[in-house]
Amino acid sequence: MNYDEYLRRVPKVELHCHFEGTVRPQTFADLARKHGVELPTQDADKLYDYDSIYEFLKIFAMVSSTLRDQEDFARAAFESIQDGVSLGNLKYREMFFNPTLHTRRGIPYRTVVDGLVDGVRQAERELGVTCRLIADVYRQDPPEMAREMVEQVLEHRPDEVIGLGMDGAEAPDPPEKFVDAYRLAKQGGLRLTAHACEDAPAQNIATCLDVLGVERIDHGYHVLGDPELVKRTRDEGITYTVCPTATAVCYFDADDLTKHPIRQMADEGLKIMLNSDDPPMFHTDIGTEYVGMVNAAEWGPDRVRTFVMNGIDGSWASDDEKRGLRQGFERELSALDAELER
Ligand SMILES: [Zn+2]
Repeated sequence: MNYDEYLRRVPKVELHCHFEGTVRPQTFADLARKHGVELPTQDADKLYDYDSIYEFLKIFAMVSSTLRDQEDFARAAFESIQDGVSLGNLKYREMFFNPTLHTRRGIPYRTVVDGLVDGVRQAERELGVTCRLIADVYRQDPPEMAREMVEQVLEHRPDEVIGLGMDGAEAPDPPEKFVDAYRLAKQGGLRLTAHACEDAPAQNIATCLDVLGVERIDHGYHVLGDPELVKRTRDEGITYTVCPTATAVCYFDADDLTKHPIRQMADEGLKIMLNSDDPPMFHTDIGTEYVGMVNAAEWGPDRVRTFVMNGIDGSWASDDEKRGLRQGFERELSALDAELER
């Protein structure tokens, strides 16, 4: 077994991927046909071609516009988890979804969440993978809309929905804009995370931790601009859910992961774990993210093990589930290590 295969087969936790960004291009094309949505191209392979975060967000919205019936959400959610399993040995996931992308189009929140839960439960039954859901604030929404979204989430809340996050273009809309939504979510018992410092200075991480009360940071690359904050988040053991390819394409050097700030974050001792973000939209998958980033950073199996275990630690699974995951991962990793040495 070569190292690439080893990396694909390493058992994985994923804490940073967006449901709407995991829809297979073929499914996007099928749903567009089903609902009479016109696409920019008939070639499914070309549907996800673009070159900036702003163009990307447009496609993201277009994919969302083809998700309408409960079955659409269920199908895409199930397939998304299935891809994680077949392409990267996914074992546990916490997945974002953007309620207002759908409710603003007149799709009832219940349709969205009930469909996702159908797909997630099917994956649990058939694939043995637990997937939980995190409702994301869309940063370009007004604060009142984000607050109303949280009210809806708390009002109709299947067990799978465990947290609140925040995404969208970062630079124009700072995190403090959504303090009300976060306060309400915390009161309602949701766990908290937020995208920060993908495209804005380190200050946004401090705001997310101190003003919004988040427990994890999604991305976080520009923390490197503030040595004090690097030290603080290392000491506090804050988990950073990092995404190599998506951010390389949008913000850094797309072709060269050796220069990705993730490498330095790891060297600084920050608690990172690897994720796929919006895999088919960036022509990647969770296995490929490990292969690309680990080889670029020249990380050996010991560091990979650390990052994989960081995923379990940083997850919002129960203590019992974490224990079970750790035991299963230790077993699989030991077997893989033995195969790699042969
Ligand atoms: Zn993201």
